[in-house]
Formats: sequence, structure tokens, C-alpha cells
Amino acid sequence: MTKYIFITGGVVSGIGKGIVASSLGRLLKSHGFNISLLKLDPYINLDPGTMSPYQHGEVFVTEDGAETDLDLGHYERFTDVHLTRQSNLTTGAIYLRVIQKERKGDYLSGTVQVVPHITGAIKDHIHTAAAKDTDVVITEIGGTVGDIESLPFIEGIRQFRKDVGKDNILYIHVTWIPYIKVVGELKTKPSQHSVMELRRQGIQPDILVCRSEKSINASIREKLSLFCDIDLDAVIQCKDARSIYEVPAVLHKQGLTDQVLQRLKLTPPRAQMDWEGWDTVTSRKPSHRLKIALVGKYVQLPDAYLSVTESLQHAAAAQDTEIEIKWVHADEEIEALGTSCLEDVDGILVPGGFGERGVEGKITAIGYAREQQLPFLGLCLGMQCAVIEFARHVCGLSNAHSAEFAPETPYPVIDLMPAQRDLENLGGTMRLGAYPCKLSTDSRLYQLYGSDMIHERHRHRYEVNNQYVKTLEAHGLKISGTSPDGYLVEAVELPDHPFFVAVQFHPEFRSRPNRPGPCFQGFIAACLAQKGVTV
Ligand code: GLN
Repeated sequence: MTKYIFITGGVVSGIGKGIVASSLGRLLKSHGFNISLLKLDPYINLDPGTMSPYQHGEVFVTEDGAETDLDLGHYERFTDVHLTRQSNLTTGAIYLRVIQKERKGDYLSGTVQVVPHITGAIKDHIHTAAAKDTDVVITEIGGTVGDIESLPFIEGIRQFRKDVGKDNILYIHVTWIPYIKVVGELKTKPSQHSVMELRRQGIQPDILVCRSEKSINASIREKLSLFCDIDLDAVIQCKDARSIYEVPAVLHKQGLTDQVLQRLKLTPPRAQMDWEGWDTVTSRKPSHRLKIALVGKYVQLPDAYLSVTESLQHAAAAQDTEIEIKWVHADEEIEALGTSCLEDVDGILVPGGFGERGVEGKITAIGYAREQQLPFLGLCLGMQCAVIEFARHVCGLSNAHSAEFAPETPYPVIDLMPAQRDLENLGGTMRLGAYPCKLSTDSRLYQLYGSDMIHERHRHRYEVNNQYVKTLEAHGLKISGTSPDGYLVEAVELPDHPFFVAVQFHPEFRSRPNRPGPCFQGFIAACLAQKGVTV
């Protein structure tokens, strides 16, 4: 029988519910369980694909090409399980499903209502997340208890207890215990109210995970236990950690795993926990330091590049290095003030992006990396900008551009595929999800991946225009990766450069703390080598 764990959030958003869900996934997987994770998002958008990164941070892409909430990135990084488009569900998607059924007449002219139809569709979806061999499904409910939008989800998971039986379900409420400086005290009242609200909606949480800046002492735990009617052992402290990757161990030490196993009557398939290399991810004190410039346009909101920065951290940790990310605004800094902000960095990374703003700044930064022999890694739009820069300044194709930003350019070195060029509406035409890429065996990427056939995830519409490939190659740009049929350019590099690698795909979606992405590994190694360090 599959077991179900539901994670709700209290008091405020941003207290790391997603990290708690991911950490619990890690702990259960380390005990040998087959797990699945699911995020239910109360907003009405069908998926986060069209939402600005300013609103919800990065869009995470799964193997099967779903554009999902960034929490799925945490789930994958922590558990190393490949999630699918089933793993993220929004209110919009649920309503669409129900309305489509209504239009088809599936409800036989009955009145279609939130209860039971919307809640029923939510429950059906949770059931489908449990494949035959899934031991535990962990479902996180987005937002905070008390939000209007989350009511149908809370009602759905309340009913779920009846459907699967009380021994097979667990409710975990993640809450915040603020520290009030002036009185020097941690306050439990907001959490009490949040649990009260959850109980008003019919759910009595089994476990309370308390996020706080300071240690929670026994009397605070007792108070929470009493007022929230939760067993004392099930009031789990989760103090701020140095790195998110320490949270599984912190929660384990605080007794979360024991509580979950006991309450769900689960016997771990593995007697000894297998941390799968996690113990080395966080335990080190790094010997080296690097400063990496991340040149983008959403730099005020670091969550917009979450998988990229996590991937840099993975590669750095594996090479005994601490990195400082220097956030560089492509238009407000480089376009306005030039490249002086890049003078103190050890490497430059230009990530993916959409829209014209900042593109010239990114191109300038890449030109600087090329000329100054500074390690450079370009991802997706970062690769397209590298090709534009090379076409303009090395091949002499002045004003070369991407047709995305300058449809009238004389040299569209980046363009839509011929079949897409006449389309009126480009909706639904992105290349999304994992695709194979063939690497040439004399490339740096081949050395890094150790294979001539790799798979990485994509999220883009434009491609290198094949009309210009010969010119680019003739001037020294190496096409180091293509689609298996050789038709689409997947990666370029400069052989006579310490590290100048740019890829059309997004290697950040597959990097794991215990298995850093090869592109990031190579980039960090090159930055260290420039400083005379070999690890
Ligand atoms: N805007 C570019 C395209 O659609 C790049 C997308 C990206 O960087 N993810 O091709």
C-alpha cells in the first residue's frame, strides 16, 4: 500500500517548505524507499511556463519537457529522481480538466462543483502520482494555509485520509517561529494560529516542522505541543542551516525520519541508510575561492537562476572551492557602464533568457571573456549570444543577430527552424525536455562527459542558423555537439582558449550535489586552473 505525506505551510511563504519536502524525500530514499514527489500550486496559470521569473523564480524543466515550479528542481536535486509533467499541478490545470469533462458531457448534466468535482480531480491526480512500485508519495501544497486559493487543495487532502485510511497518510505542517529581537524571544503565536486555521479546515497535523533562526528550547516545544495538539516528539526543530544540503541531516537528527516511519508503520527496506555521497557534499571547509560573474537580466531575484547557481555550487563543492557569485546586470551595468565590473572575476557565466533586454550587455561580456582568455560558460541564450559575438567580431558579419531580437538583421545567425518561420503564432513551438546530443570526440565537452552521446534538457525556440555554420567554423569556432542527425547545433567551443564552452541545452537541470554537471565541473576546474590551482 502506498503511503501519502502532505506538506502544508504556515505563517508566511518562503520558509522552505520545498526544502523540507525534498529533504524528507532524500531521507526516505536513503532508507531504500521508492518515492515520488508532487507539487500542487494554487495559482490559476496552467503552468509556470509563461510566468515571469520575477514572480516565481526560475521555470524548471523536466525530462519529459514540462515547465514546472522551481521546487521540482529541489526535489530532483535532493532525491535524484526524475520527475515528470504529472509532478506539478495548478488550480488552472485542474479547472481546465474539469471544465473539459463538463463540455464533453461526462457529468451527465449534473451541477459541477468545487466539492466533489474539483476536489475529486485533485485526489485522482494524487493517486496517479503513485506508480505501482511507489512506496511513498510526498505532496507539497503551495502557498500558506489560510489563502483563499488553497482551500480546494486542503479539502482534497482532507478527504484523502478517508479514502486511503489513517495509517497511510501523514500531515506535516511547516511553520515559522519568529525571533523578536527587542524582547529577545521566539514567538509561537503565529504557528498556533496557523495550526488553528488548518484544524478549522479539517486537518490536524501529525508533525510540526518549525523553521527558526535560533534554537527552539524545550519549553517552546512543549507550548507548541500543547496548543497545537501535537505529540512532543513530533515537534521538530529546523534551525537555519549553512547550506540547504545540510537540511536532510538536520531533520534526521531531530527525529523526523523516526516519526515518519513510526507513524506510517513503515519498515525501511535498507537497514543501513545510504546517503549516496551526500555526506561529502556539505561536510567540507573549502580551501579555494572563486568569484564568478553571472551576467543576466533578472539578477535582482537570484531565484530566477536557481538551478544555475546550485549547479555552480555543486561543482565548486566537489572541487574543494567556495564560490562567490557576482550578479551582473547585463543592461544596467554592462551596457551602461562597460566591462569594468568584470575585471575582478575568475570566470563569466551567461545563462538562458528570453527577450531583448540585456542581450547587448551579454554579448559584450562574452567578447570580454573571449579576448581576455577568461573562462566562459554560455547556456542556451548564453550560447546564442556567443555565436552572435563571434559572428560579429571574428567573422566580420557586422550587425549579426538573432531573428528573435532583430528580425531585419542582415545576418540572422540565430533563427527559427525553417518550418516555424511562417507561423503566425509561436505558442507551443518550443523545444522542451531531454534530447540527445552527439559530441565530437576531439572536443572539451567529450572529455568532460566521457561519452559521445549525451542527453540534456532544452527550453528554447531559436537555433543556430545552418547557413552560417561553415563561416563560423572557418573562423575557428568549433561545433562540438550536434543533434544525432547533425542538423542542429547543440554546443560550440573555442579550442584556443582556457575554457570557452557554450551549449544550446540547459545542463543545470541535471546537475546534482553528489553528481555535478560536467559543464559546470569543467568551468570551475578551468577557473581554478587560471589561478594556478589543480584539484
Ligand atoms: N530565447 C532563446 C530561444 O528561445 C533562448 C531561450 C533560453 O535561453 N532558454 O531560443
